[in-house]
Amino acid sequence: GGADIECDLMVLGAGPGGYSAAFRAADLGLKVVLVEKYATLGGVCLNVGCIPSKALLHVAAVMEEAQHMNELGVAFAAPQVDIDKLRAHKAKVVGKLTTGLAGMAKARKVQVVRGVGSFLDPQHIAVETDEGRKVVKFAQAVIAAGSSAVKLPFIPEDPRIVDSTGALELRFVPKQMLVIGGGIIGLEMATVYSALGARISVAEMLDGLMPGADRDLVKVWEKQNAQRFERIMLKTKTVSVEAKDDGIWVKFEGEQAPAEAQRYDMVLVATGRSPNGRKIAADKAGVAVTERGFIEVSPQMRSNVPHIFAIGDIVGQPMLAHKAVHEAHVAAEVAAGQRSHFDASVIPSVAYTSPEIAWVGLTEEQCKAQGRAIEKGQFPWAASGRAIANGADYGFTKLLFDAESHRIIGGAIVGPNAGDMIGEVALAIEMGADAVDIGKTIHPHPTLGETVGLAAEAAHGSCTDLP
Ligand code: FAD
Repeated sequence: GGADIECDLMVLGAGPGGYSAAFRAADLGLKVVLVEKYATLGGVCLNVGCIPSKALLHVAAVMEEAQHMNELGVAFAAPQVDIDKLRAHKAKVVGKLTTGLAGMAKARKVQVVRGVGSFLDPQHIAVETDEGRKVVKFAQAVIAAGSSAVKLPFIPEDPRIVDSTGALELRFVPKQMLVIGGGIIGLEMATVYSALGARISVAEMLDGLMPGADRDLVKVWEKQNAQRFERIMLKTKTVSVEAKDDGIWVKFEGEQAPAEAQRYDMVLVATGRSPNGRKIAADKAGVAVTERGFIEVSPQMRSNVPHIFAIGDIVGQPMLAHKAVHEAHVAAEVAAGQRSHFDASVIPSVAYTSPEIAWVGLTEEQCKAQGRAIEKGQFPWAASGRAIANGADYGFTKLLFDAESHRIIGGAIVGPNAGDMIGEVALAIEMGADAVDIGKTIHPHPTLGETVGLAAEAAHGSCTDLP
C-alpha cells in the first residue's frame, strides 16, 4: 500500500551523525523524519560511548589526583566507591543530553519514528514500531546507522564477558580484568576500572598500544601507567575463552603470552567496531555496501544512489563523533540544495585516558614512511611552569612541519588536557600556519596550551632561513 508518513528527508539513525543531519536539514527548511531504534536520541556516542565513558573517566581522574595529593601534603582518606550511585550519576549525565536532543528535535519539528528501519526501495523505508509497521516515503535520505562492537566468534555468552557497552554498565568491579584490544576504547575502560580497584591485563595483537598514535607519546603513556597493569601482552593473539564457575579462563598465543590459561573475573572485548551497512536492507534501495559493511560516498556524502547520502561510522574510518557531525552538515546542506562538500584536511584523535593522548595530521612514523623531510618542534613539559605546578612535568608537545614550506602538518600531545589543546593544532593545519605563525601567537602564561607555541618556536629556532 501507500506510505504512512511522507517527508523531504528521512534520516536513518539518531547518533551524532543522524541528529546533526536532521537538525541542519530542518533548519534549512526540509520536512525531516528521524528513524531510531533506541528509546533515546544520541546513538552510540551519547548513550553508550563518548559521554558515559567521559563521565566515568572524570571520576577516575579526580580519584587519582586526590591520591597524588598525599605526596603534596594534603591527605585524603582512601576512596569508598558506591557503585550504584556512580552508575546513577553516569545515567543522569546521559539523560540530560538525550533529553536535550529530544527537545531540540521537537523545536525543529523533526518527526522521530521509533523502531528498526529497513529499506523497501529507493523511495521507501519500513519501520517496525511498537504500534506496528510504518512506511515512510522520502524524497531524499541520509543513512547514519553507525557501527557495532566486533564480536569474536570463539567467545561464549557470559555476564562476566563484556563489550564497551557492558563495561559502561558498571555491573561490578572485578579483581582481575582482561582487556582484549589495546586501542582507545579498551584503554579508556581500563583507566576507569583500575581507578575503581581492578588489576588490568591487556592483550594486543599489534606490537604497541594505541595503534595510530605517535610512539614517543605512547612511551610516556606506558611509563605513567606502568603501575596500573598486571601485564601488557603485545603481539599476542587471544585464542580461547572459557567461562567457568571460578572465573573466565583465557588462552593466548605469542612470544609475550603466558603458556598456561589465565583466570580473570571480567573480560572486556574491545577489538574494534564494524559498520552496520549490512543490517538495513540497503540493497533494496540500490545502495552499494562493501563486504565489511561500509557505504562508499562522494565528497558530497552521496552514495552510489545520488539522493541517498551516508555519514558517520558507516562510511569509514576514523569512527569518531566529530567526524560524523561534520559529514552530517555536508549531507544536510547538499540535500537542501546548497553547495557543500567534505574537505577537512585533518581529523583529531584523542584517548581520554590518564594522561590523555591527542594527535592530529601526520605522525613522525607516517612522515618517515612517506620519506617526507620534516622539521620537528618539541617542548617537554618539564620546562613548563604550569605543568610542574600541576604535577604533569612528564608530558610533552610535539609539532611537525614540512621542511620546505615550514607549514605545520601534524601535532601530538601527551599529558592532562591534551584533548582540549589539540584543537589549536588542527586549526593551524587547516589554516596552513607555519612555525612562525604559531610561535609568534601570544599564548597565555602559565598554561599547558602555551607548550604549543613553545614547540613551534623550538622548530623555527632550528631552521636557518627564518628570522
Ligand atoms: P552511531 O552513534 O552508532 O548511531 C547510529 C544510530 O543508528 C544508533 O542509535 C542505532 O540505534 C541506530 N540504528 C542503526 N540501525 C538502525 C535501524 N535499522 N533502524 C533504526 N535505527 C538504527 N568518538 C569520539 O569522537 N569521541 C569519544 O570520546 C568516543 N568515545 C567512544 C567510547 C566508546 C565506548 C565507543 C563505543 C565509541 C566512542 N566513540 C567516540 C565513537 C563514537 O561513538 C562514534 O564515532 C559515533 O557515535 C558515530 O556516530 P554515528 O552517527 O555514525 O553512529
